[in-house]
Amino acid sequence: MSNKFDVIVIGAGPAGYVAAIRCAQLGMKTACIEKWTSETGKQILGGTCLNVGCIPSKALLESSHKFEEAKHQFDVHGIATGDVAMDVSKMMARKDTIVRNLTSGIGSLFKANGVQSIQGTGRLLGGKVVEVTDNSGNVTQYDADNVIIATGSRPVDIPPAPLGDDIVDNTGALAFQEVPKRLGVIGAGVIGLELGSVWARLGSEVTVLEAQETFLGSMDQQIAKEALKHFKNQGLDIRLKARVTGTETKRGTVKVMFEDTKGAQELKFDKLIVAVGRKPFTEGLLSADSGVNLDERGFIFVDDHCQTDVPGVFAVGDVVRGPMLAHKGMEEGVMVAERIAGQKTQVNYDCIPGVIYTHPEIASVGKTEEQLKAEGVEYNVGSCPFAANGRAMAANAAVGQVKVLADAATDRVLGVHIIGPQASELIAQAVIAMEFGASAEDLGLTMFAHPTLSETMHEAALAVHGHAIHIANRKKR
Ligand code: FAD
Ligand code: AMP
Repeated sequence: MSNKFDVIVIGAGPAGYVAAIRCAQLGMKTACIEKWTSETGKQILGGTCLNVGCIPSKALLESSHKFEEAKHQFDVHGIATGDVAMDVSKMMARKDTIVRNLTSGIGSLFKANGVQSIQGTGRLLGGKVVEVTDNSGNVTQYDADNVIIATGSRPVDIPPAPLGDDIVDNTGALAFQEVPKRLGVIGAGVIGLELGSVWARLGSEVTVLEAQETFLGSMDQQIAKEALKHFKNQGLDIRLKARVTGTETKRGTVKVMFEDTKGAQELKFDKLIVAVGRKPFTEGLLSADSGVNLDERGFIFVDDHCQTDVPGVFAVGDVVRGPMLAHKGMEEGVMVAERIAGQKTQVNYDCIPGVIYTHPEIASVGKTEEQLKAEGVEYNVGSCPFAANGRAMAANAAVGQVKVLADAATDRVLGVHIIGPQASELIAQAVIAMEFGASAEDLGLTMFAHPTLSETMHEAALAVHGHAIHIANRKKR
C-alpha cells in the first residue's frame, strides 16, 4: 500500500465518513483514519452520532415512547393491554443491534467506494503529512494533497460533577441496565431533555437542573414555553436558575448541591447525567508546525468553505463553528469533497434544521421571533395548532403548532418553528421552501394531501396573511 493519498480524512463520524465517501466517488484516492476500537480491538466507524449519540438515543426514545403509549394511550383507542412491562436489557440489546448494523454499514460503504480505512489516532504534521499511531503503538506517516479534519467533539465535564459509576455522560446514560428510581440531569439542553425523557417514560423520577433562567434560550420562546408546559405535565421536574456546585457519591446515592433563587439546595439521586454541552475534540491533533489554528473557543478556525489557515487542509463537523449537528457536518463533508474536486458547492448556514426528539417533537429552521426583533426585521407571523388537524386527531396527537415567520416586505419565509407530532419530518418542508427562497404565499399556493399533518404547515403559511381556512385567523387581509 502506498502511503500517498489525494485525500486523508481524520475521523469517521458523520462529517468524516461522508467526506471520505464523496471524495472517493469523485475519483480521489482517499483514506479515512479512525481511532475508536471495541474492547476486542476492532475498529468502530460512525463516530459519536452512530455509537453514542443520534442513533442510540433515538432507538431508546422510540422504545420508551412505545412503552408510554402502551401504558397510557392505547386505552383511548379501545385497546386494553393489561400490565405493561419494560425489559430494559432487551431494549438495550435492540439499540445495540441498530448501532452495530449501522456502524458496520459504514465499513461496507467504504469498501464499495474504495475508501481505505486506517485504524489509529491521526496527527497532522507540517506539509500535509498525517502521522497515525495504531492501537499497538506502531507509527506510520502518510502524505496527502488534501487533509480533512473531522475529529468531532466530546462532552464538557464540569468539576462539581466528576464522572464515575453513578455520574455519567451521554455514553453512560444510553447504557443503564435498569431504570434509576431517582434520576438527576444537569443541563436542560437537547441531550439532557432527550435522555431525561427516555428514563422518565420508563418510570424514573427525573429532575433537570439548569443554570440558565430561560428555558431553551436559543429557540423561539413561544415554542419553548409550550414545550416546558408539556415536559412539566409529563413529570419532568425542570428547575431553571439552578446551578450545580458540587456532588458527593456514597453507596450508590449521588448528593447534588446546587444554588437556585432560594439559595443553597441539595437533592439525592440514584444516577446523575451530566449534559452541559460538548466541546471540539482537538487534543494531540495538531503538531506545532501544522499551520492550522484554533479560534478563541477552541474550534478549528475555518472560513465559510471549511478551509483552515493551511491551503488544502479543511475541517468539518463538530470540530468547527456552527451547530453541533450530524447533518450540518455531513453537508460540510460533501461541500469540501466537491470543492477539492473543483466544484463550487456551498453550505447554506441559514437553513440548518434543528430537532429535539422529545414528545411532542420540537423542530425549527431559520430565525426566531426574538432574533428578528433584535435585528429590527419587520415580519408577519402565521400559526396553526395541530388541534385543528384531522390527521393529528386521528393519531391522538393533536398537540402543538406550526409557526411561520415571513418578511413583512417580501413575504419570504425567514423561519419556521414546530412543536407537535412528527415535527422532525415536517420541518423538511420548511427547509426546502427556504432553500428555494419561497414566500409564505408560495407555501400557501402549494397543494398538500388531505388528511395529513403537513396541512398544519399549509394552514400556518396561509395564516401569515389571514387566509387560513380551518382556524380563526389572527388578522385578516
Ligand atoms: P463525531 O461524530 O464526534 O466523530 C468524530 C470521530 O473522530 C470519532 O469517531 C472519533 O473517535 C474520531 N477521532 C477523533 N480524533 C481522532 C484522531 N486524532 N484520529 C482518528 N480519529 C479521531 N445530532 C443530530 O444531528 N441529531 C441528533 O439527533 C443528535 N443526537 C445526539 C444525541 C446525543 C446523546 C449526542 C451526544 C449527540 C447528538 N447529536 C445529534 C450530535 C451529533 O452526534 C454530532 O453533531 C455528530 O456526531 C458530529 O459529527 P462529527 O463527524 O463532526 O464528529
Ligand atoms: P447544551 O449546550 O444545549 O447541550 O445545553 C447544556 C446546558 O447545561 C446549558 O443550558 C447550560 O446552561 C447548562 N449548564 C452548564 N453548567 C451547568 C451547571 N453547573 N448547572 C446547571 N446547568 C448547567
